[in-house]
Amino acid sequence: MVNAVYPGTFDPITFGHIDLLKRAAKIFDHVTVAVASSSGKQPLFDVQQRVSLAREVLSDYQNVSVVGFDNLLVDFTKEHNASVILRGLRAVSDFEYEFQLAGMNRNLAPDIETIFLTTAEQYAYLSSSLVKEVARLGGNITNFVPEQVIAEIKQKLG
Ligand code: ADP
Repeated sequence: MVNAVYPGTFDPITFGHIDLLKRAAKIFDHVTVAVASSSGKQPLFDVQQRVSLAREVLSDYQNVSVVGFDNLLVDFTKEHNASVILRGLRAVSDFEYEFQLAGMNRNLAPDIETIFLTTAEQYAYLSSSLVKEVARLGGNITNFVPEQVIAEIKQKLG
């Protein structure tokens, strides 16, 4: 059994995350989406809302679950019987931070491996923060997030 944890802020979950998970679900026995409370980032949605939204849009994936967390990632990973931390890479600009994070996590827990999947080309430019920015300015976000997410963003932004 190889289980993975896919950590992130998911504020909100996008088609980029979903595409990555769709591919990961074929590789790993189980993938736990780990929604970080990320209070320092002042997210648009609180962690419970982000977890609910992700659960809703991922309900078709039998071997994917969604959980909120605010403890050390390597501890969370062990608690969920996972040996892999999964992350996505979009551009070279992601690399430096991801490299640092993977190095720190290896130091903390040498038995846990960080594995990267590259983005699908059509989502290379897609990030949760850009989606929120476009939505705030009244742009069309139907190509970026599922409709349940659009409804929640609309409600949030009034
Ligand atoms: P974080 O705040 O930890 O970067 P995010 O929710 O923004 O959390 O992203 C979670 C993970 O998903 C990160 O590894 C990020 O690189 C990856 N990711 C985000 N958007 C995409 C995308 N469009 N394609 C592939 N991976 C993505």
